[in-house]
Amino acid sequence: MSPTAMSTELSKLKFIDPRGRGFGGKLNGLKFKAKNLGRERFHCPWCEYKGPFRDHVDANARREHAQCPRCLSKERHRLQFLALGELAKRPRVTSDRVLHCAPEPFLARALRQQYTNYESADLYAQGVDHRVDLRDLPFEDARYDLVFASHVLEHIDDDRAAVREIHRVLRPGGIAILPVPIMGEVTVEYDEPNDDEAGHVRAPGVDYFERYRDVFAEVEVFSSEDFGEEHQTYLYFEGEWRSHWPPRPPFLRDAAGGTRFTDFVPVATA
Ligand SMILES: [Zn+2]
Repeated sequence: MSPTAMSTELSKLKFIDPRGRGFGGKLNGLKFKAKNLGRERFHCPWCEYKGPFRDHVDANARREHAQCPRCLSKERHRLQFLALGELAKRPRVTSDRVLHCAPEPFLARALRQQYTNYESADLYAQGVDHRVDLRDLPFEDARYDLVFASHVLEHIDDDRAAVREIHRVLRPGGIAILPVPIMGEVTVEYDEPNDDEAGHVRAPGVDYFERYRDVFAEVEVFSSEDFGEEHQTYLYFEGEWRSHWPPRPPFLRDAAGGTRFTDFVPVATA
């Protein structure tokens, strides 16, 4: 596929139906809007819904304005979508063969419809194309044009090996999109998987993307600040989730101050 054709393909992402374009999604959006008339309004770049977003509540925290009630996109999905849109404007994005690691259904559906050569991979999940370990991929060098692994590396002990493998299976100039949750300024490694943080083996900090720079030719980082406030790609936290860890001393990491956090999408070029 030519660069121009791929650019056009990517720019059409918003017109396909990840979720929420159908009757049910629209009805959910309308119902939520009607019940939340006074709330702040946003604009979902995935499904074009305009109105208030849902809060996301789990055991650790309440995240305000997290989820689109029509298509169910969360902050990171919207940010990743907007970053993909920026990349699509550039002729150098010629991705045709895509490896999507630990595929979230939300983005998998969109990518599957976009790429003839879409392949999914996971260590455990059923129904993927490849059951593989990112630290030791069974693929030849330079097989892929794009590797997408969102919120994966914080689960892998030897993440540097995984980054090297991702680089190896990319063609020169191919890109890897590797977002992780940023928990503070400095990355903190845990001795064992942290069950209170979905089994993460580290809390990545702002310095984490240096690990990509050690291996890749170039790393560009998109952030919430690059896109309009109306798309709501920030993380709002009440509660303890971004505080120090563990709950009692000795703490392994510092508490992150504030209630609104910027999210990031690092794009590494091989
Ligand atoms: Zn939406």
